[in-house]
Amino acid sequence: MAHDAVPFQYGQYLVTDEELTGWTVDRPDGGDIVAVTGLCPNCGHTTRQDVGESFGAFGQSGLAAPAPIERMTRICDCACNKEHRDTGAQTFRSCGSWWLVTIVLDANEAAPVRAATDASLLPALRAVQEVTATEEGSLRLSAEKWIAAVTALVGLFGLVGVVVGKDAFTGLSAWARGCAGGAALLAAGFAARAIVYAYQAAYGWPVVVNIGNDQLLTKWFEGRRTHLQNAVGQLRKGVIWALISLGTLVVAVGCVWFWPRSSPEGPLIEVTRTDDSKVCGTLLDSKTDRGLRIRRPNGAVAAVSTTSLGPVKNVSSCDA
Ligand SMILES: [Zn+2]
Ligand SMILES: [Zn+2]
Repeated sequence: MAHDAVPFQYGQYLVTDEELTGWTVDRPDGGDIVAVTGLCPNCGHTTRQDVGESFGAFGQSGLAAPAPIERMTRICDCACNKEHRDTGAQTFRSCGSWWLVTIVLDANEAAPVRAATDASLLPALRAVQEVTATEEGSLRLSAEKWIAAVTALVGLFGLVGVVVGKDAFTGLSAWARGCAGGAALLAAGFAARAIVYAYQAAYGWPVVVNIGNDQLLTKWFEGRRTHLQNAVGQLRKGVIWALISLGTLVVAVGCVWFWPRSSPEGPLIEVTRTDDSKVCGTLLDSKTDRGLRIRRPNGAVAAVSTTSLGPVKNVSSCDA
C-alpha cells in the first residue's frame, strides 16, 4: 500500500458532506461522544479523532453553562497510522490532512458527522488543541505554585504569633487586649485575601470547562480574552489588601507596645509582728519612712512599722 499512498503534506482538507457519509460517532453506552471514526477524505485510510467534551483550563471562575445546542465542531487530524512520504522521502504515519467536522449531538441522527457548518470556530478549536496539549503540565505547575501560597498562608500564623505572644498581653487592659487581638486577626484575614488574589492573578484558578457544543466552545474562547483584564484587577486587589493587612498589623503592634500598662503588682508577703500577729498581702509602696504597707486580700491596707517588724517571707497565697 505504501507505494501508492498519497504523499504527506500538512494542510487543511476542504471536506464535503459526501466524503463524511460513512463516518460514525463513538458514544459508549449512549452517553457523551468520545470520538468519531471513518475514512480519511484525503488518503482513504481509516482514522479516528478523539473529541473530549471538557478539559481543565485556567479561568477566573467556573463558566455557567448556557442552554445546550445541537452540534459540536472539532478539528479532525488524519491519524491513519499508514505510511505516507513527503517530497523529501521522509515517512509519516499520517497523510498530514486535517479538516473540520461538525458532529450532530442528537443520537438518532442518520448522518451524525458532517462537514463543518461554521469555519469561524477554527481559532477557538486551535486554542482548545493548545490547551489540551499542555493541560497536564500546566495543571501540575499551577498546583506547585499554589503549594507556595498555602505555605505563605500558614506562615501568617507565625507573624500573628509574634504580636499575640504569650507574654505580650501581661499587664495590658482589656481594651488593649481587644485592640491588639482583633487587629492581629483582621491582619491575618486581610493578608490571606491578598495572597489568594495575587496567586489567582498569577496562575489562575483551575476549572473544568465544558465545551460539549459549539455555543459553549465559543463562550470559553471569548472568556479567555477577558482573562488578562481580570488578572490585572486581581493583582491590584492583592496589593491593596496586602497594604491594608500591613496597616492593621501595625495597629496590633501599636496596641501591644504603646497602650499604657498597669503598674506591676508587688510581691505577696507574710509579715509576722513582734507580738506574733501576722499580716499577709501584697506589698505596696511605702508612704512614710520605717513602715511597710500591705494590702490584704480583702482590700484593707495594713501598716507595719519597722519597730514591730518580725520575720518577713514571700508566700504564694494568703490562706489564713
Ligand atoms: Zn493515510
Ligand atoms: Zn489521511
